[in-house]
Amino acid sequence: MTNKYMYFVANWKMFGGLNTLNSLNKVVNYLSKLKKNKLIKIIYCPPSTLIHPMSKKLQNSSIEVGAQNCHESENFGAFTGSINSKMLKDVGSKYVIIGHSENRHSGETNKLINLKTKSALRSGLKVIFCIGETLKEKRGKNTKKVLNKQIKIGLSGIKNKNKIIIAYEPVWSIGTGIIPKSKELFETINYIKRKVKDYKILYGGSVNPKNIALLKSINILDGFLIGGASQDSKKFIDIIKKTYN
Ligand code: PEP
Repeated sequence: MTNKYMYFVANWKMFGGLNTLNSLNKVVNYLSKLKKNKLIKIIYCPPSTLIHPMSKKLQNSSIEVGAQNCHESENFGAFTGSINSKMLKDVGSKYVIIGHSENRHSGETNKLINLKTKSALRSGLKVIFCIGETLKEKRGKNTKKVLNKQIKIGLSGIKNKNKIIIAYEPVWSIGTGIIPKSKELFETINYIKRKVKDYKILYGGSVNPKNIALLKSINILDGFLIGGASQDSKKFIDIIKKTYN
């Protein structure tokens, strides 16, 4: 039985419309009946279009809302298609995911991720800071080197440890159904913990109701970042239930 405070971050990616918000009713109901709800922090990160309606819908629940990315400047500017951290805060975000591998893959550098993180903190958002190695990097035994660089540059000059949650997401695990071996994951999380003392650390990558029992046995984790399975309220609730069973 887990008696630890745990985070469950739902990353909806580019999925969902206004009609999807009703699926949250089940989660709100479940949480309201849960004796252990004080040990749980649920954060939903929907697409930007849903941040405002979702935060309105959840205003009387303990569930918080976050965004999936932001521009590196919190000032207004001529950046067509971009949204900055101040705007996200304005519509109800408390958190923002930064450095997700899908955005790193589209060209986000560690330096840019550092600027985005600083901007988000200045706007008063908390940051879910994603790191993780690709399959090629893992096969080349470069995992630690890659993580170290992502942390060193990405978090350079940042002191607000309690405003940042690290999410370790091996890229080869995201959306593939494959999770790291327990020993390997334990070692990697420990490595990250040594690099960034006192930060909360989540695991992300194909978390689902079937593998959660194994993942929760890595008892040095502070929770999970959940993509695909978080879009299905039943699966999401199942993951939470099994974490505490
Ligand atoms: C993610 O995209 O952050 C993620 C963890 O996705 P999935 O759970 O679908 O692997």
